[in-house]
Amino acid sequence: MNKILIAISIAVLFTLALSLPLDSISGREKSEETAEYGNHYEGDMLLNKDQLDALSSPERNGLINEKYRWPNKTVPYQLSANHTKEQQDYIEVGLKTLESVSCLKFVRRTNETQFVNLTGEADGCYSSIGFQNKSQNLNLQKYEPGSGCFRLGTIMHEFLHALGFYHMQSAYDRDDYVEIKWDNITPGMEHNFNKYNSSVVTHFNTTYDYESVMHYGAFGFSKNGNATIVPTDGDLGKIGQREGLSKKDIWKLNLMYECENTVEPEPEPEPEY
Ligand SMILES: [Zn+2]
Repeated sequence: MNKILIAISIAVLFTLALSLPLDSISGREKSEETAEYGNHYEGDMLLNKDQLDALSSPERNGLINEKYRWPNKTVPYQLSANHTKEQQDYIEVGLKTLESVSCLKFVRRTNETQFVNLTGEADGCYSSIGFQNKSQNLNLQKYEPGSGCFRLGTIMHEFLHALGFYHMQSAYDRDDYVEIKWDNITPGMEHNFNKYNSSVVTHFNTTYDYESVMHYGAFGFSKNGNATIVPTDGDLGKIGQREGLSKKDIWKLNLMYECENTVEPEPEPEPEY
């Protein structure tokens, strides 16, 4: 009888231990599904000096600027010995998925000097924005594949940063689609909700995308458990998915890299500002 009780106790403790990493994520940022961890610019973006300057000057240029695109539509990457084989394989599942919907190629680095350097530091998931013309880090904190930084959508989210995409809710017209609840944002984290003007970011001839894998969830950087981003129709569930790429994510990726598009998300002209 005692043996059974001990076995049950061990099972319960084991289950609790397994659930702990997720709880600690939630403490850092309320929304598990947004998976934006870390104290970098907008949580998970490393901006170079030009990019920071661009944000503070009216002559902004970011995502639209072609110098941030990977030459030859090819991204060399170097896996980290800090990740397990299983984690490395999962990263490559994400890369294969990006390849399958575009004409981009991800190749293991041999002697290239410009490449994505995967790291597995314990401070979240984050990436530089676009091609940096040198070795650039992309960090994926170690989690079980399918959770935390190792959700497939999060892996692709970080690589979309590396390819040149900012966050969806940074779009210049976002206030027509979402309301930012400034009173609920953790003090000091307001910069995560910046928006960029239309000389920096473009919708690539399509419209605002609630379903983008690049959209924060409703509770990103909340200080009190209340929503920080509310879609205009009040449906909190429509933002922050990390299951995979939306149709418009694929559309924009293919336009940015001049691939043939296989999806057609009803493109509409951008509003004039
Ligand atoms: Zn991000």
